[in-house]
Amino acid sequence: MRPDLPTVPLEAGAGPENPPCPACGEPLFVWVELPVETGLAHRCEACGLGVLGRTGTTGDALADLDHDSGEDGAIIFENRASFQSQLTGGAWSGLGTDRAYRFTPESIVRLVSNRDQVLDSSRWLPGTGILMMWQSGINMFTFGHNLALGRFGRARATPSRKAWRRRLDAFITVVLAVPSMLFAVPVELIGGLIGRGGASRIRLKVL
Ligand SMILES: [Zn+2]
Repeated sequence: MRPDLPTVPLEAGAGPENPPCPACGEPLFVWVELPVETGLAHRCEACGLGVLGRTGTTGDALADLDHDSGEDGAIIFENRASFQSQLTGGAWSGLGTDRAYRFTPESIVRLVSNRDQVLDSSRWLPGTGILMMWQSGINMFTFGHNLALGRFGRARATPSRKAWRRRLDAFITVVLAVPSMLFAVPVELIGGLIGRGGASRIRLKVL
């Protein structure tokens, strides 16, 4: 269990309301800190896997992970256990996604062990992480989510349904663009230095 996550006796969650984690098999818990628009989400207290929407099977989670695999076989993922994710909670830009699973390094290790794979290498992506933290900082003050990165096709944007809120969000985004970057650079650098960067490129290998 990660030291930064609340300590909950895992057996307390076993039952139909707490389906097994697709990565490690421990019971999932409802992820209550998320914005309402996200719908019912779960997270694993053991390996940190975040599940947005339907919980699915181990095969579903593996397919979701492989979806990020490039031609060279490397996988880029946004780290739910990152310093920036823990700091910004429901405002974390990595939550603005069409994907079902939000991975942590531990959840990936557990997940790929199901097909006899291990982590071969992992490389922090500071540029991507700084952009994510920049957007997360702005998300903390806007009604919508990922409005700036979404405009550049770097994330899925969720604008507010009300026009006046969208106008206010556009104004807030402009006002906070520079201050949020000043904040994002040190936060992500600290995250990288303590091994909890916002995004990483990993390679897997067969045992
Ligand atoms: Zn798990």
